[in-house]
Amino acid sequence: MKIAIIGGGYVGLVSAACFAEFGVEVAVAETDPSRLNRLLAGEMPIYEPGLEALVASNRAAGRLSFTGALPEAIAGAEAVFIAVGTPSRRGGGHADLTYVFAAAEQVLRALDHPAVLVTKSTVPVGTGRKLAALAAQLRPDLAIEVASNPEFLREGSAIGDFMRPDRVVVGAETEHARTILRALYRPLNLIETPILMTGLETAELIKYAANAFLAMKVTFINEMADLCESVGADVHDVARGMGLDGRIGRKFLHPGPGFGGSCFPKDTLALARIAQDARAPSRLTEAVVAVNEARKAGLGRRIIDAAAIDLRGKRIAILGLAFKPETDDMRDSPAIPAIEALAETGATIIAYDPAAMAAAKPLLPGSIQFAETASQAIAGADLLVVMTEWNEFRALAPARLAQAMPGRVIVDLRNIFDPAAMRAAGFVYHGVGRGSRP
Ligand code: NAD
Repeated sequence: MKIAIIGGGYVGLVSAACFAEFGVEVAVAETDPSRLNRLLAGEMPIYEPGLEALVASNRAAGRLSFTGALPEAIAGAEAVFIAVGTPSRRGGGHADLTYVFAAAEQVLRALDHPAVLVTKSTVPVGTGRKLAALAAQLRPDLAIEVASNPEFLREGSAIGDFMRPDRVVVGAETEHARTILRALYRPLNLIETPILMTGLETAELIKYAANAFLAMKVTFINEMADLCESVGADVHDVARGMGLDGRIGRKFLHPGPGFGGSCFPKDTLALARIAQDARAPSRLTEAVVAVNEARKAGLGRRIIDAAAIDLRGKRIAILGLAFKPETDDMRDSPAIPAIEALAETGATIIAYDPAAMAAAKPLLPGSIQFAETASQAIAGADLLVVMTEWNEFRALAPARLAQAMPGRVIVDLRNIFDPAAMRAAGFVYHGVGRGSRP
């Protein structure tokens, strides 16, 4: 089978490489010249563990190709996946579907054969129906079917998530579209992955509902962490005690600086708008958005209060910039508002992230310095702030930190360090939800 994927970003590129690995012939259309040129040169435009090798081997096998010419990509494709961005629309937070409809229109105008048009992008309920109407309007001559196949992969573990998903969701209303999508995911039969076949609206809503629920878990434990700080409890034990209950589950109960990234913030906001527009408001989702925004906006103040020193002229080391480890994605990272606030204190800020510095530079105040290693960032620091839980930061020994830092304050927004060990090494240590408020 041959398929095309429109958009070679985190989702499009990973999906393309994985489908090719399943034995499908995949052509990716990408409009961004710098992303495309890097792909053509065999370089990865994004950081994702394992992706470069998977792309290289499937290109070498002749199953995976990249092009800037969309008509070339869709020639002979039985299914065309749209995997372009759906960011928040300015002022309001509805999902911006400009890229989706532009891509769909390009595909529909260029198709010279019937095909299944599949949205892999996260799109609001009703989008598939609108795409079907657009197809009928632009190409009454072709039997074009529309399907929804939302993606659940996580950046940083995207390949494993795509290859071993908990489930695949397909919203399709014709037998032919269901057959094509079932065939594409057939290799997952071997590991007995459930493939949930639904209608279009249901599939579209599943994606938002799943993301909002996970975001709600994170937000809930963040609030419990604040409560723990006020009452002297330990949020890790609270999370464990809750999570061992199979009805609750252990995942997504890690307290931190508030969720960020390219999905949860925009998808929770979009779901709140979808529900309002449908006159079935989701107050819980609205609260999740508001509580998380407030948490991120207040991060700088939290850090400054925790440091409890005059930061003017002091040196602050920031470890981690991306919203989570193993990615270079800086979209909506909590590090951005935190560093903006810290930059106002008159301190010198030196940041380090193993993968996200290039993406971070244009988003952070110009006064920020960047270190080449974690050790370089820490050397001479008065205050250390851990923003992202990269494994290499976990390994920093308390004694080494104490030697490198003339100041003795750590604000660990990911709870990667052992509080007792840090205190024993002479640090004033603030974690999240462990008895003292950072
Ligand atoms: P991205 O911005 O990394 O990638 C989108 C790509 O599409 C860009 O490279 C852009 O240049 C390209 N593009 C836009 N219009 C095009 C066109 N007409 N023709 C060809 N290329 C075009 O975005 P992403 O993170 O991959 O997200 C894509 C979608 O998947 C979003 O709806 C997102 O919500 C959803 N999603 C993302 C993730 C994630 O972890 N990033 C996970 C699940 C779902």
